[in-house]
Amino acid sequence: MATRIEFSQHGGPEVLKVAEFTPTAPAEHEVQVENKAIGINYIDTYIRSGLYPPPMLPSGLGTEAAGVVTKVGSAVTHLKVGDRVVYAQSGLGAYSSVHNVPADKAAKLPDAISFEQAAASFLKGLTVYYLLRKTYDIKANEVFLFHAAAGGVGLIACQWAKALGAKLIGTVGSAQKAESAKQAGAWQTINYREENLVERVKEITGGKKVAVVYDSVGKDTWESSLDCLQRQGLMVSFGNSSGPVTGVNLGILNQKGSLYVTRPSLNGYVTTREELEEACNELFSLIASGVIKVDVSDNQKFALSDAAQAHTTLESRSTQGSSLLIP
Ligand code: NDP
Repeated sequence: MATRIEFSQHGGPEVLKVAEFTPTAPAEHEVQVENKAIGINYIDTYIRSGLYPPPMLPSGLGTEAAGVVTKVGSAVTHLKVGDRVVYAQSGLGAYSSVHNVPADKAAKLPDAISFEQAAASFLKGLTVYYLLRKTYDIKANEVFLFHAAAGGVGLIACQWAKALGAKLIGTVGSAQKAESAKQAGAWQTINYREENLVERVKEITGGKKVAVVYDSVGKDTWESSLDCLQRQGLMVSFGNSSGPVTGVNLGILNQKGSLYVTRPSLNGYVTTREELEEACNELFSLIASGVIKVDVSDNQKFALSDAAQAHTTLESRSTQGSSLLIP
């Protein structure tokens, strides 16, 4: 028997229940993975709450984990039993001790990267990869704004920006988070509970403002983020932590300086096997060489059966960096 988290109605963390199940054999293009560490992502809360409804209820949850291949589908050639792997974009059900995963979404893990490091950084690191390297090609000395800089995606973005020689201005919700973002490589931080975002961005940039804003907060910061942009700047709206952006009047882009907006997702950038391999090469070498550190503090590692508690903690805005479930 295996254990997984299921939910049969949308709602708060309390809808998450622990269930026992008997794993089925993997389909021909799948591998079965015994999960050792499971990544918790903010998107999991959207799926649970119904903001992004799953195909059907009851449903499993989670798309990212690292572990060992225990069974291989008949058409799979690049993985074998015993391989250490990490996967994301797997289809719902990674909050589980065992998960059948499309083989082309799994990557072999270098020995230098532990299961916990991998599950803490794969989906979030691939996200930072496409945001900073593809959606807008951040160059050395580029000054840009990145919201929630002390979060899971955020701390990886701070470190990646530093590695590129770029100057990330990170927003944070507390002095402690400002310290973490700075340590990770943020050039400047703005505590948006205490400081006016737009005024501080103008002050830091000598009135020039920035060419690109990465905004995962959504509803609460949409308008102020646009006000941080230079003429013809790019707004990258990639998340909804405070709720989705709705009812946008396109005229606002004209009024605020002929701005551009994009609403990207990982699936739109890292889709094919080749794209995944290219992204993994960059991400794994930065982690294996210690340029990007993704160690998770003990108070953000939860037993799989405590998934509801893990969601409550993530949504309380008290976490820094990534959080994990351990089966
Ligand atoms: P985080 O660890 O960043 O947690 C969310 C953080 O958002 C909080 O810690 C908090 O930081 C900040 N926040 C601001 N306002 C709120 C609010 N009202 N409620 C809760 N949190 C708030 O999560 P992840 O690293 O997992 O994800 C970060 C964001 O990136 C999410 O919005 C997620 O959906 C998005 N994402 C998008 C992807 C894509 O491809 N489009 C892929 C992966 C993630 P603080 O207290 O400092 O403000």
